[in-house]
Amino acid sequence: MDQFEKADRLKQLPPYLFAEIDRKKEEVRAKGVDIIDLGVGDPDLPTPDHIIKALNEAAKDPRYHRYPSYSGMGAFNKAVARFYDKRFGVNLELSEIITLIGSKEGIAHIPLAYINPGDVALVPSPAYPVYQIGVEFCGGSCHIMPLLKENGFLPDLDAIPEDVASKAKLMFINYPNNPTAAVADEAFFKKVIEFAKKYKIIVCHDAAYTEMSFDGYAPMSFMEVDGAKEVGIEFHSLSKTYNMTGWRLGFAVGNAEVIGALGKVKSNIDSGAFDAVQMAGIEALDGDQQCVADNSKIYQERRDLLMEGLNAMGLKCTPPKATFYMWVEVPEGYSSADFCTKLLTEAGIVATPGNGFGAPGEGYFRMALTQNKDRMAEAVKRMQELKL
Ligand SMILES: *Cc1c(COP(=O)(O)O)cnc(C)c1O
Repeated sequence: MDQFEKADRLKQLPPYLFAEIDRKKEEVRAKGVDIIDLGVGDPDLPTPDHIIKALNEAAKDPRYHRYPSYSGMGAFNKAVARFYDKRFGVNLELSEIITLIGSKEGIAHIPLAYINPGDVALVPSPAYPVYQIGVEFCGGSCHIMPLLKENGFLPDLDAIPEDVASKAKLMFINYPNNPTAAVADEAFFKKVIEFAKKYKIIVCHDAAYTEMSFDGYAPMSFMEVDGAKEVGIEFHSLSKTYNMTGWRLGFAVGNAEVIGALGKVKSNIDSGAFDAVQMAGIEALDGDQQCVADNSKIYQERRDLLMEGLNAMGLKCTPPKATFYMWVEVPEGYSSADFCTKLLTEAGIVATPGNGFGAPGEGYFRMALTQNKDRMAEAVKRMQELKL
């Protein structure tokens, strides 16, 4: 029994679906099994040296030891503008950019700017859990947009009831997508913009994975599409692109009014990312992008290795064009949880059950390409020895 009564927002959190997997993982590990963890979406590769060097230098400079600006250092925001111009051909004013302490921070805080108790947000499922939780922490409710295979794991906007669309204030989308690894094209983004204009909805596009792609495919930014800036913002992060998950540095760009509202929330809650980390971020965004290409090449090799193994086993998975995830259908006769338990207990492999990302993820499991080639090969070998 807790000594202190928790707020409803904590009491109403959905049960932690990974708790069971975590418990079993520890049980299996305690037996001395060599576990291959493909569960977490956290790069195993180190932050590139030139970025670490920039932090080392900036950390010694007392100018960077004081409270950072809540909206970001001018110099970092300018580097973001250069990056968007160079990479996407998108022109951004400084009023259209805000620095975040990791993009999760901004994603969790944006509902505070727009969601009153009882307000509605459109949220995909399966999805990164922060969209739904951010809205619910504000007392808002989420209308779930299921991401289904037959729609290429894109939400079906025509399936959203008129009265829900009319009430909705925010819509979250995320491409390249976690957990399904699906990508979106310009036609989809155009449809989103049209829909958002019709119903006066703010679109929040999570673009964490645009720089992690394969076979020469370059994912687009939502901001590249005409009208995107009128209806929404895009969250971006240095976490996955430059193996900087621990550094906590991201940003949001787009509609100046929405960026300003997010800034207003943040100015009352936090004091911005450490300036020395932002200096390193400038080096990351402005510096040689070979490290990004090298990363993608490594993930592509791992993808190919795992894909071959899955194919040989008859497990169905669309080869991802982007992200470091494989979204795999569980074999006949298993639930997501059953199959992940089997992978863990019989092969020592940790994968994430699809329903952990929301009910429409049932029937799938997610594997992250976050172990080196030898370990991936070992995982494939162990999977092939399973009796399905
Ligand atoms: C990893 C990830 C992020 C990035 O989070 P940070 O807070 O920037 O580290 C954002 N969205 C999705 C879907 C992710 O998987």
